[in-house]
Amino acid sequence: MTPVRLPTSPGAQHLAPYACRDDRSRGRRYPEPAPSYRGEFQRDRDRIVHSAAFRRLEYKTQVFVSHEGDMFRTRLTHSLEVAQISRTIARVLGLNEDLCEGIALAHDLGHTPFGHAGQDALNTCMTPYGGFEHNLQSLRVVDVLEEKYAEFPGLNLTFETREGILKHCAREHAAALGDVGERFLTGRQPSLEAQVTNRADEIAYNSHDVDDGLRAGFLTVERLRETALFRGAHDEVQGRWPGLPLRRTIHEVIRRMIHRQVVDLVDATAAAVAERGPDGVDSIRAAGEPLVRFGPVMHERHLELKRFLSEHLYRHYRVHRMALKARRIVRELFEAFMADRRILPPDSQAHLRELEEREGPSGAARGIADYVAGMTDRFAIREHARIYQPTELT
Ligand code: MG
Repeated sequence: MTPVRLPTSPGAQHLAPYACRDDRSRGRRYPEPAPSYRGEFQRDRDRIVHSAAFRRLEYKTQVFVSHEGDMFRTRLTHSLEVAQISRTIARVLGLNEDLCEGIALAHDLGHTPFGHAGQDALNTCMTPYGGFEHNLQSLRVVDVLEEKYAEFPGLNLTFETREGILKHCAREHAAALGDVGERFLTGRQPSLEAQVTNRADEIAYNSHDVDDGLRAGFLTVERLRETALFRGAHDEVQGRWPGLPLRRTIHEVIRRMIHRQVVDLVDATAAAVAERGPDGVDSIRAAGEPLVRFGPVMHERHLELKRFLSEHLYRHYRVHRMALKARRIVRELFEAFMADRRILPPDSQAHLRELEEREGPSGAARGIADYVAGMTDRFAIREHARIYQPTELT
């Protein structure tokens, strides 16, 4: 069967001159023939969707532990919301939607179980061995840890998708990462698609944490009205539909919050891009600051909401209790495996030996961190019980 050959790259349509085009990609670490009926970034996205780490996002959480209720966001639904928001922004700005979607779906692949509490605990455990950063781990998942293809480790994604996944990186790690680490040493910017997805991530979690926080009863409408972004949307909904039931009111408010942030971001970014007049991706990367931004008023409102959530949701006493348990589970799992690696499954023992031969003792710790970071919330809880509870089956 002759493969279908399209006359132009499917990703090259309707793109602004400063968008990433997949026919001009900086390529993959292991060169591969171009796909025959998809663009390079579509192929990246498809590889991400078929990865094991992507499926595990369903049982990993952001703020609420996944068994606390089926109504809360998980990392999977969060990633889908980020993809939706970033694609909308990308399309209106003439950027590459496929690239944004791939970055969005992969951006949290390296997260530990139990959100930030789990990440902090694993970072503390790993401090003597080079630390643990979830952004770096997301890159490690797609570069190394996924075992699926005959000819290369990881998913062998394009430079542009990998660049977008590595949102932050400490300088001391950047040098070892080659091309994707470079910008953290030279102060360059990532593509506009990476910048858009980064902002879409913030818009998504600020908005859905308000929704989940209200549903959990940790936040109240009265307190949330202290923030201008919520208050403005709430006033409009109440004015238009007085007496609307709470559930519908909240959704109408949240959708307005997302809409207003997206519209503001599109307008401010379009103005920043027009002012600078970049002629290609290289001038985006060379700009001294990100061009994807909110206008000054929305920027303030966005920060105000962030501060509010940090004070009233992330520091709620019940969130602290969840975090305390989460940190203990992650720490005790790490300690148990460090003390006796024979209790690890055989394939993890093999992975650990390989790393140890290459890197010494810190390689062994890294192998354990890979195993713990890959766990879902529920697997970590079960694994902890299997190791520490004498009455549990092993
Ligand atoms: Mg995220």
